Amino acid sequence: MEKTSCNETSLPMKMKSSFKPETVTVFGTGDFGRSLGNKMFQCGYSVVFGSRNPELSGLHPKGIEVMSYAEAAHRSDLIIIAIHREHYTFLTELAEELQGKILVDVSNNLKLNQYPESNAEYLSQLVPGAKIVKAFNTVSAWALQSGTLDASRQVFVCGDDKESKQRVMDIGRTLGLIATDQGSLMAAKEIENYPLQLFPMWKFPLYLSAGLCVFYFVYSVIRDVIYPYVYEKKDQTFALAISIPNRIFPGMALSLLALVYLPGIMAAILQLYRGTKYSHFPKWLDHWMLCRKQLGLVALAFAFLHVIYTLVIPIRYYVRWKLNSKVINQIKTNKTDPFNTTTAWLGDSYVALGILGFFLFVLLGITSLPSVSNMVNWREFRFIQSKLGYLTLILCTAHTLVFGGKRFLSPSLLRWYLPPIYVLSLIIPCTVLVLKFILVMPCFSRPLTRIQQGWERMSKASPKAHSGNGKAEV
Ligand code: NAP
Repeated sequence: MEKTSCNETSLPMKMKSSFKPETVTVFGTGDFGRSLGNKMFQCGYSVVFGSRNPELSGLHPKGIEVMSYAEAAHRSDLIIIAIHREHYTFLTELAEELQGKILVDVSNNLKLNQYPESNAEYLSQLVPGAKIVKAFNTVSAWALQSGTLDASRQVFVCGDDKESKQRVMDIGRTLGLIATDQGSLMAAKEIENYPLQLFPMWKFPLYLSAGLCVFYFVYSVIRDVIYPYVYEKKDQTFALAISIPNRIFPGMALSLLALVYLPGIMAAILQLYRGTKYSHFPKWLDHWMLCRKQLGLVALAFAFLHVIYTLVIPIRYYVRWKLNSKVINQIKTNKTDPFNTTTAWLGDSYVALGILGFFLFVLLGITSLPSVSNMVNWREFRFIQSKLGYLTLILCTAHTLVFGGKRFLSPSLLRWYLPPIYVLSLIIPCTVLVLKFILVMPCFSRPLTRIQQGWERMSKASPKAHSGNGKAEV
């Protein structure tokens, strides 16, 4: 059964008193028009539909009237145009009837920037005497019908007439939606593009991860499959299943985690260099900073994969075979390796650092969830994401360094002059940690703090452009 989730506090007059309910006309009895009209009806509005074929339009709840477009236009001064843009032309015939009325454009397009002007602006050209408001295009017919509005509660409203905009926002709020004023009708194009964007914040992290992953994979295949085949005629292709992925995944997790913190450091260096925060960062840096959460989540996914791949090591045939061969060899030669305390220390420290690093990594991931981050204040959020984030980076970097242990930079590990992947994966984190260490030194941190509080090195009057709400924090 359909759930109704109207906002009780902003129900129209009908629900609160004996006043006549506000009448809203909906043009179009298609999926969206019907869903929105029925929802408004449930929330106390009197709804009238305009249709090409009133007699053919399907079932509507008792109390909703369906009539011709001209008749329906006559019944209300607020008309929702639930029709595709391509069919707007017939509205010119009703131009006189629509004079001075509020027309709500809910339309979407199939492609980003499909037309030179927004659909709402096109509508205002077709019916110049009407007050056009863009709204509701981010809500789906399905969500309105099923009542599952949680994920798509946000509606963006724009228009040149303030009062009309306010009336549409009131309707949105009554329906239980979150209506945000986006300004004049010029914002319509942007609003129309919202529902067409496909994970905009995920594109950069995913492309970057894919590129890095392919690089690490090719690198590993050259080192761990092709090299042994060329020099020792050994078939190591089985490494493609677990060994190579389990070298790539930790490398990816560590590199991506470091890339979460690198843009903050670059922004801080830029602010120190410019001596002001009132200057735009380059676009790519701005975008990179906005994608940090997504980058961190991709890094966490790789860390999870590394943990799972590591847990299966004891049951691998190759590992059991290697261990058994070693033991049999020791029995045959009647020789055992003496216990090496340093190796024990390195092995245990490597595992302990990995466990702690992973624990904090998961904690960072959990606190980035909106339901959790909404519960902490800005200072707490910064503490977790910045301080604990750096601690995670330090622990994971140390985990990798200790993994290399005594043979870390040993030339015997080079194959065709190529070091193991874990050495490569340490380049970005070590760079980030060294730069961070330099930036926390008082000679840099003091001027940086002053700059971030608004101080400028040059008092020369220049057009100010805010570089973001504290985004440069490192
Ligand atoms: P739909 O099911 O195809 O309905 C469109 C309606 O437009 C038709 O039922 C028809 O109603 C009317 N219409 C008027 N002139 C027409 C003509 N010449 N040819 C065909 N139909 C004509 O589309 P919809 O899904 O309801 O979408 C309506 C608008 O809402 C679109 O602009 C869409 O972008 C927008 N929107 C839809 C959704 C969604 O989830 N579906 C979400 C957000 C926004 P009559 O037969 O009664 O005349």
